[in-house]
Amino acid sequence: MAMSEVRTPSWLDESKESFAARLEELAVSAGVARASALATAWSGSLRRWIFERGVLEPERMSDLPLALREALRTAQPPLLATREIERREAPDGTVKLLLELADGERVETVNMPGSSGPTLCISTQVGCAVGCLFCASGLAGLRRNLTSGEILEQFVRGNALRPIRRAVVMGIGEPSMNLESTLRALDAVHAPDGLDLGVRKITISTIGFPAKIARLAEHPHRYQLAVSLHAADQGLRDQLVPLARTVRLEDLHAALRAYFERTGREITLEYVLLRGVNDSAAQAQDLARWMKGLRATVNLIPFNPVDEAPFRRPRREDVDAFASALERAGVTATVRWSKGVEGDAACGQLRVRAEKRAEPAPGTEKESC
Ligand code: SAH
Ligand code: SF4
Repeated sequence: MAMSEVRTPSWLDESKESFAARLEELAVSAGVARASALATAWSGSLRRWIFERGVLEPERMSDLPLALREALRTAQPPLLATREIERREAPDGTVKLLLELADGERVETVNMPGSSGPTLCISTQVGCAVGCLFCASGLAGLRRNLTSGEILEQFVRGNALRPIRRAVVMGIGEPSMNLESTLRALDAVHAPDGLDLGVRKITISTIGFPAKIARLAEHPHRYQLAVSLHAADQGLRDQLVPLARTVRLEDLHAALRAYFERTGREITLEYVLLRGVNDSAAQAQDLARWMKGLRATVNLIPFNPVDEAPFRRPRREDVDAFASALERAGVTATVRWSKGVEGDAACGQLRVRAEKRAEPAPGTEKESC
């Protein structure tokens, strides 16, 4: 299927109005409603089960007629488009879900406990075209964009595990390369009859194409913006973030200044620390110099080892020295030691490893039938 082809794999891809129309059609064909008023009420009820109560199985939606619940179970297109195929829980309470999409592709979503309540990390693409050298998703390349419904469904499934208080678009994929579907899903999550998460509770992380930053500045809902910088030196950033070679750091700086002027919102710069590559105190000073004129804080992320990525985790003393050098230069920095499931700490790893397990070992190919 071509990348650009529009799919509507589930009801969550629909607007609220067409969701209600679908339910009415189903109710009529199942012989449970003639009046559209009833179907409208049931549609509201169905959405509440899904969004507010985290109940995703039609058979448990006790205020809907039995025949309608049965029809919902087998509806085509289906109510939901993904299937949970793996769940991993870490001792700290982090839960990673591996979801299979209607076409067999897989993505991850992660529900993490935190001092301000559970945070959900969601994916926006199957793989990623940006190709960051330290990232499991980048190393595997892009397969396709997710639809808004597939993005929204991660919220619904993640929230059903444990009601979320925050969300970060930091899973698999580069949201700015699937921006309209991402924003559509986030707007549904932000809506009072969605998950009702405030704009400051939702963070979009991006490598920062200037035109996309300008698009975000114009969006009516001002979600938090995080930009993955990783190096204040053009040559090093070009190597680490291959597709961002087209982005001049001075243009990114100008786009972030314009973003602040337009929105009044401070941004976060993310910086993955790679031992001996970008973690020296001198590089921290370069970063602080580059940030002059920006309203931004820095989030330092010690590299989580990824199979096949040729980097090492930074030493704790270097992380501390990097953070101190930033603080001395007047930049606020926090260090994010990742949460995660042991051995799969970096997002995207679960998907990549599951794919490897699925590949038949040489000489063990299945016989065709
Ligand atoms: N594509 C977007 C959002 C997804 S990646 C972006 O790059 O911003 C979310 C964050 O995870 C990014 O800051 C990214 O640099 C970081 N990340 C990716 N792989 C990592 C790894 N192996 N260790 C630590 N952080 C990683
Ligand atoms: Fe894509 Fe982000 Fe991974 Fe880079 S870090 S490859 S942009 S998902």
